[in-house]
Amino acid sequence: MGKNYVVVAEIRGGKLRQVSLEAIRAAAFTKDNGDQTAAVLIGSQIANLADELSRYIDGKVYLIDHTDLEHYNPEAYLAAVSPLFTELNPQAVFFGHTAMGRDLAPLVAAHLQAGQISDVTAIERAGADVLYTRPLFAGKAFEQKRFLDGPQIVTVRPNNIPAAEETGAKADIVSVRYTPPSDLRSVIRDVVRKTSGKVDLTEAKIVVSGGRGVKSAEGFKPLKELAEVLNGAVGASRGACDAGYCDYALQIGQTGKVVTPEIYIACGISGAIQHLAGMSQSRVIIAINKDPEAPIFKVADYGIVGDLFEVVPLLTAEFKKVLA
Ligand SMILES: Cc1cc2nc3c(=O)[nH]c(=O)nc-3n(C[C@H](O)[C@H](O)[C@H](O)COP(=O)(O)OP(=O)(O)OC[C@H]3O[C@@H](n4cnc5c(N)ncnc54)[C@H](O)[C@@H]3O)c2cc1C
Repeated sequence: MGKNYVVVAEIRGGKLRQVSLEAIRAAAFTKDNGDQTAAVLIGSQIANLADELSRYIDGKVYLIDHTDLEHYNPEAYLAAVSPLFTELNPQAVFFGHTAMGRDLAPLVAAHLQAGQISDVTAIERAGADVLYTRPLFAGKAFEQKRFLDGPQIVTVRPNNIPAAEETGAKADIVSVRYTPPSDLRSVIRDVVRKTSGKVDLTEAKIVVSGGRGVKSAEGFKPLKELAEVLNGAVGASRGACDAGYCDYALQIGQTGKVVTPEIYIACGISGAIQHLAGMSQSRVIIAINKDPEAPIFKVADYGIVGDLFEVVPLLTAEFKKVLA
């Protein structure tokens, strides 16, 4: 029996999150021959998702299904996984670097007396070592780290590591009993979602972002149309959020969300360093700005100097034709 490389999978909007499949790929790459990947799925009425997850795992899927676990609650989720982790004695535990992963991973690390490497964007092997790359100083530098000893806790940044593929078989699903702690200090009563976008911003393959140049809430309409045609998500600069054109949930940057989509389309965004911190690792950056001197053009792969209210509808119409 090899060691366990466990992924704590995550559910969003009734679906498995893409980053959980990326974490499985990371776990599979990191383990040695004879070790196995396992997954833990926590939630309420999620047997169907456990079944889906079982197609990506070569060890076991541990299902912790309880009405109290419908929404993420750090104390409840830690109580749900702690006995299991004590029993499994994992060599490594992987999380998505999401709001939940960032919160739960250090709690699990404390429980297992483990080291943690967070926000990993690449993993490589160097002899017997596994090297984890992570950005520093808002993406201006990178460092490579390795663990000296186990257990190991890793969080992976969405959209950087390719997703796991189906194994061609189904892993066993093991139901794990959850006993709600009697001393929970908080419970979730309700979740109010501010964004209604179909695609999650941090996992979107294409992001269409607007800045102060969009000029009003109404001005975001053409950007939403472009995002819709490309099956992407809408983001924003803090300038646009501060001006009240859109919700802060869309803010990208140092004090907002970090995104690494395949294509980032910046519309009417000047390219302040704090904005770049959240999007400069995108694979292809397209900037639309009427000022040819705008700093965003320094990081852009493609630059369009022009009025976004002319350019964006033209792009939408053209993509519609090409994708039809
Ligand atoms: C501590 C701190 C944290 C911060 N965190 C963040 C963060 O997380 N995210 C973030 O984004 N910012 C952040 N900021 C703010 C940041 O410094 C910038 O002020 C902000 O990014 C500017 O937003 P903007 O590019 O939309 O606006 P502006 O800088 O005003 O740029 C608007 C751009 O739109 C162009 N434009 C105008 N009209 C049109 C048109 N019709 N067509 C095409 N282009 C047009 C203009 O040429 C201009 O380049 C932070 C600042 C501080 C101090």
